[in-house]
Amino acid sequence: MADTATDSRSVAFLGLGTMGFPMAGHLAVRGGHRVTVFNRTAAKAEAWTARFGGASAATPAATPAEAARDAEVVFLCVGGDDDVRAVAGEAMDAMKPGTIIADHSTVSATVSREMAELARKRGLFFLDAPVSGGQAGAENGVLTVMVGGDADAFARTQPLMACYGRSVTHMGPAGAGQLTKMVNQICIAGLLQGLAEGMAFAQKAGLDGHKVVDVIGKGAAQSWQMDNRAKTMLDGKFDFGFAVDWMRKDLGIVLGEARNNGATLPVTALVDQFYAEVQAMGGNRLDTSSLMTRLTR
Ligand code: NAP
Repeated sequence: MADTATDSRSVAFLGLGTMGFPMAGHLAVRGGHRVTVFNRTAAKAEAWTARFGGASAATPAATPAEAARDAEVVFLCVGGDDDVRAVAGEAMDAMKPGTIIADHSTVSATVSREMAELARKRGLFFLDAPVSGGQAGAENGVLTVMVGGDADAFARTQPLMACYGRSVTHMGPAGAGQLTKMVNQICIAGLLQGLAEGMAFAQKAGLDGHKVVDVIGKGAAQSWQMDNRAKTMLDGKFDFGFAVDWMRKDLGIVLGEARNNGATLPVTALVDQFYAEVQAMGGNRLDTSSLMTRLTR
């Protein structure tokens, strides 16, 4: 899966949040790579170095440029479009020609194409490489990584991404990774609302919800969300990572792209508004299965 320590490569990781912290850790520990980290809030970079840096740990970099200067591949996992513009832009100012920058944030295809063009003009390669699998997937190193950009740059980066990705796939030119992630979010949004309605109905009908899930989860209604979230929805537990605020960012990106390409997304648009209601109820940091809270208040 990962490179051995003899294939140790010099890489940088910018953004040690919920996702970036464990992903960068897998590059160092599983992959044996030399990882220079940067985080805007320095304490997180120091915590990362204490946990994953080892005896010969490099000092965390003070800026994205400092982290990126000597890296063969620079990874980032930050927030939205403007964050990627800022962090990737600064890193690219310092990178050596022929090196690669791979962005694991979920952002628009527009900003990914913009960054890829900026990289091209500087003799660099930019890959859009959003991930699916959440906090648990990052911590366990089993993410799904969907990548857009230059095929040779992808081939050079794939073994590194395999340190935290169970599936790492080249989807096409710049933006294709982000477009694939949009499809993922469209499929999840409608499915979660259906699951919430089913669970709320089971409760109103006086059924034993857990038993219902055990039975129908073996049939055609089965899904990852049913296997992992239906019972916690019934129990009113909504603390499983990917937050409503992040989902609204992603659905905003999806609906913006649909305006460009003419796709019709009536259910996704409606579920986006349902998430806005969850936010108005104070559920910004609840996980995405909290659509259930609208139906049971
Ligand atoms: P997070 O925990 O909020 O961490 C965000 C990281 O980005 C932090 O290290 C933050 O630095 C840094 N950052 C944000 N804006 C920055 C800026 N303008 N300049 C410098 N650093 C900046 O977020 P996360 O959950 O790891 O998510 C990161 C990305 O992955 C997002 O695009 C998200 O949509 C995507 N994603 C998340 C999940 C999930 O389950 N959480 C799953 C798939 C995809 P500070 O520490 O200084 O704030």
